[in-house]
Amino acid sequence: MNCLEFRREKLAEPRHSSAAARAHAQECPQCAVFSRSVDESEAELLRAMTVSVPEGLADRVLLRSGRANFPAWRGWALAASVVLGVGLASIFFGAPPSDAYARLAVTHVIDEPESFTTEYHSDAHSVAVALRSVGASVRTPLGKVRYVKLCPWENGTAAWHLVFETPQGLATLIVVADERVRSKSDTFVDGWSAGVRPVRRGFYAVVTSSPAMTGQVDEILRARINWDA
Ligand SMILES: [Zn+2]
Ligand SMILES: [Zn+2]
Repeated sequence: MNCLEFRREKLAEPRHSSAAARAHAQECPQCAVFSRSVDESEAELLRAMTVSVPEGLADRVLLRSGRANFPAWRGWALAASVVLGVGLASIFFGAPPSDAYARLAVTHVIDEPESFTTEYHSDAHSVAVALRSVGASVRTPLGKVRYVKLCPWENGTAAWHLVFETPQGLATLIVVADERVRSKSDTFVDGWSAGVRPVRRGFYAVVTSSPAMTGQVDEILRARINWDA
């Protein structure tokens, strides 16, 4: 079993792993980390769906207001509407939009609102591991990093998801290894700005609340990180 097969299986069936998958995770530290990260996300999702919704409340809310208003459902609904938006755009314009990755990055951030309110693996070592996945290294520390998590990305691959403080507010950095992006692209959708920048071994995406801030954060990232280390 190779890494891609392992990650596909883990995402398809998070709570069951085959003998081949267990054997792979014993030999492959990256996939072992990926597996733990998926387990933690699963547990969080279960908590959100069981703890915050008293019996029958979901149905009553749905019946009365015609829409759900608790976080798990809101997250899914928002994500679905953005995915639908991206899908419709490609139907209208024939080909996948050139800002497809930037839109995916926005969808990812909207789908994970806890990334802005939770401190998670916010140490320098985690940041270094995340950047090393694309062969990058820190020149000057990024300031206060609050969140570093390995997340599921497209097609069973994984992305490192970081949130850090800047003078303009919180900024998100998504780092994806081994995925070819031909040129840089930007998007502004549903009040979110995202910029995708190719690097030698993959790409990174900056997600903020405005195109101006995305530009400023990108400058910080270029100055403080050696992307082709
Ligand atoms: Zn592996
Ligand atoms: Zn994430």
